[in-house]
Amino acid sequence: MEKEKVVIIGSGPAGLTAALYTARAQLNPLVIAGSQLGGQVALTSEIENYPGFFREEHPPTGAELVEVMQKQAEHFGARLEYDEVTAVDFSKGSPFYIKTYGKEYMADAVIVTAGASPRRLGIPGEEEFIGRGVSYCGTCDGFFFRGKDVIVVGGGDSALEEGIFLTKFATTVTVVHRRSELRGGPALQKRAFANEKINFVWNTVLDEIKGNGTVQSATLRNVETGATQDQPIDGVFVFVGHYPNSKFLEGQLEMDEHGYVITDELMRTSVPGVFAAGEIQDAIYRQVGTSVGQGVAAAMQTEKWLSERE
Ligand code: NAP
Repeated sequence: MEKEKVVIIGSGPAGLTAALYTARAQLNPLVIAGSQLGGQVALTSEIENYPGFFREEHPPTGAELVEVMQKQAEHFGARLEYDEVTAVDFSKGSPFYIKTYGKEYMADAVIVTAGASPRRLGIPGEEEFIGRGVSYCGTCDGFFFRGKDVIVVGGGDSALEEGIFLTKFATTVTVVHRRSELRGGPALQKRAFANEKINFVWNTVLDEIKGNGTVQSATLRNVETGATQDQPIDGVFVFVGHYPNSKFLEGQLEMDEHGYVITDELMRTSVPGVFAAGEIQDAIYRQVGTSVGQGVAAAMQTEKWLSERE
């Protein structure tokens, strides 16, 4: 087993930025990309709020941003491995052990940037109809709902942004939110309220998704009156938050009660030599810009930590 200087787990904005910085610091980083190159942003339809990367007419896509970030990191010497980490052993300190589906690695330092994944509702029918009417990504699946009626569950920025995007395809988009007030920011709220294809159902949750091969209806329950009703629908898009992809780190790094890796202001985890950046350790900001900043910080601290050991 060859020893790497730095292994970066994850290839979202935090990981690719850490790769760029550690590559430019001559640390020859290896990025284990995970199941989705670029992470969540790769599936985002439009990026309007990442400074320095803007086009008024056709806002750039998340996939475009990831492509540029990847090329930039590789240009300076980062290497990408298209595999997924299944287990790590940080218990004996550096060098650290990392196992993927295909290989085992040893590394002097590790930067964990494994990100977060969309949360599920956990209701009957949801699991059964994933890919057959239930989706967590408008950019990926919106096209299949041309001329159809869809429900969007959630009231945050993701629900609004994806709901607006889905109106390019769907005839109607019904946003079902459990409260009577949206969580999403004012700019997205304004756009969503102004969109004629979008209507809102307040104080309501989904109890069940039903169908026959594909989704045909959803059971809606008003949380104030308790009244339920079956609404015929072709698709259900769920945007109810995220959970950190930290299962493989259990027992290895300190985490909070929601599974977010705990870091200090120097992006250090509970294990010296293991740093973390991006959504695996950030439940608050969750922006490309903040993940990039945290990736820079983690890379700089990794470089410092390694040089102090030499
Ligand atoms: P979020 O802000 O956590 O919103 C999740 C939404 O789902 C909330 O409205 C929540 O309701 C609802 N919800 C949670 N669990 C539910 C359940 N079991 N059943 C029904 N509804 C449920 O998540 P997000 O929208 O994915 O956004 C995450 C972060 O990314 C935020 O910081 C956001 O600003 C950011 N983001 C930014 C942009 C942008 O700037 N363009 C785009 C996407 C995301 P309550 O409101 O009642 O809690």
